[in-house]
Amino acid sequence: MAKHGFKAIEALDITYVLPTYARARVAFVKGKGARLQDTQGRDYIDFGSGIGVASLGHSHKALQKALKKSAKTLIHTSNLYYIEPQAKLAARLVEYYKRGDEGKPNTQKSDKSKWRVFFGNSGAEANECAIKIARKYGQKDGRYKIITLDSSFHGRTIATLKATGQDKFHKHFAPFPDGFVRAKDLSDIPNKLDSETAAVFIELVQGEGGINALDKKQVQHLAKILKKQNILLMVDEVQSGIYRSGEIFASKVYGIEPDVITMAKGLAGGVPIGACMTRLIDVFESGDHGSTFGGNFLSTNAGLAVLKTLEKMRKDRTLESTTKYFHTKLDSVLERYPAVFSKRVGLGLMCGLQVRSEEIFSQILSACLRHRVLVLRSGGNVLRFLPPLTITKSEIDEGFTRLLCALKELKISQTQKTAQKSKNPK
Ligand SMILES: *Cc1c(COP(=O)(O)O)cnc(C)c1O
Repeated sequence: MAKHGFKAIEALDITYVLPTYARARVAFVKGKGARLQDTQGRDYIDFGSGIGVASLGHSHKALQKALKKSAKTLIHTSNLYYIEPQAKLAARLVEYYKRGDEGKPNTQKSDKSKWRVFFGNSGAEANECAIKIARKYGQKDGRYKIITLDSSFHGRTIATLKATGQDKFHKHFAPFPDGFVRAKDLSDIPNKLDSETAAVFIELVQGEGGINALDKKQVQHLAKILKKQNILLMVDEVQSGIYRSGEIFASKVYGIEPDVITMAKGLAGGVPIGACMTRLIDVFESGDHGSTFGGNFLSTNAGLAVLKTLEKMRKDRTLESTTKYFHTKLDSVLERYPAVFSKRVGLGLMCGLQVRSEEIFSQILSACLRHRVLVLRSGGNVLRFLPPLTITKSEIDEGFTRLLCALKELKISQTQKTAQKSKNPK
C-alpha cells in the first residue's frame, strides 16, 4: 500500500506541478514484467511501457543489477573524464548495428564505415545533436536546410518542435529557427531539395503521427537520390530503435545505411538517455557539442544491460515469436470488431490498430483503463501498442482478454455499423 492514497497524490500534483499533461486518474506504486500495481492494489497489463521506454518491462533483474552497481560505485563524474560504460555502450551500439545476420553473413553487404556515438538525456537532445551535425556538415558550402515530413514528431525543444511536422505543436512558440522545410510525404521530398539542403530527417515509422511505417522501396529510392547529391539521410529512431522493430534499428529492416541515427526511449529501460550515432566521425571537434549528464555511469550501465538482454532475445528468436504472437492477437481483434477497427499498422512491437472514428476512440481509451489494460493514443486515431519487449505470452493473453472486455462495452451506433457494411461488402 502506498504512503499516499491516490487523492493525496493527485492534489499535490495539481497544486505544485505545471499542468502540461492530461493525466489518467491513476498512480502506480510498483511493477513486475508487463504488470503494474496502482495505489489501490489493482493490477494493470502494460501495453504501453511508458511510451516505449520500459523495454525490459518493470523490475527486470538485469537492469536492477546494473543500477545497483552504479549506485554502489559511481553514478556520475562528468564528461571531463573517461567513462568506461559510456565507451562500452557506444561500442555495443556500433558493433550490433554493423554485424550481419547469423546464418547469412555475406548476403547483406555489411557497412564498412566507422560510426561514433554522442550521448545526451532524451530524444529531443539526440535530435538536436543530429541537427547540429547537419548544420556543421553543410556549413562549408552554404547548406543549412533540413527537410522533415508532415505528421512527424521530433521533440519539444524549439528546434525539434520546428522539425516536427504537426502544426498543432507550433501555435504559441514562434519565432522558430530558420532552415526547416516541410515535405508532404516521401515522394514530395525530391521537390523540396535545393542547393541549400544539408539533410533529410525522417522517422521510418512515424510514432506520434499514427504508427505510419513508411514504404520500404520508397525509402530505399530516396536514400539513393540523397547519396548522389551528397545530402545527409538522418533517421529519428527515438521510438523505433533498440529492437522495437525486431532489429536493433528499423534502418536495418529497411535495408538502408543512413548517415545519422538518433535513439532514446527504450535504450536504458527507463533511465533518461538519448544518443546520436553517426558515420560523420570528424564533423564535430572538441567544444562543438556537449552535455552535463549525458552518458554518465548510471544511464550507460543501464543501457548496457538493456542491449545485452535484447540482443540475446533477438538471437534466440524470442523477440520474433513474441512479435508474431502479438500481431496474431491484434489481427483477431481486428477480425472480431470490423465496425471499430479498419486495419493493423506498424512494424515489430511498434504497432497499432486504426480506429474508424474519433468518438469510438475516446470510448476505447476509457474502457481500457476501466478494464486495466494500458494502451496509447497516436495521431490519426490509431490505438497504439508499445509493450515491453520482454512481455510473456501469458501477459499478452491477459492483456487481450481485458481489451476484449473493454471493447464489449462500446456503444457502436447503427450508422457506424451500416457505414462499415458498405465499406467492406462481404
Ligand atoms: C518521443 C520522441 C521524441 C522526443 O523524445 P523526448 O525524450 O521526449 O525528448 C523524438 N522523436 C521521436 C520519434 C519520438 O518518438
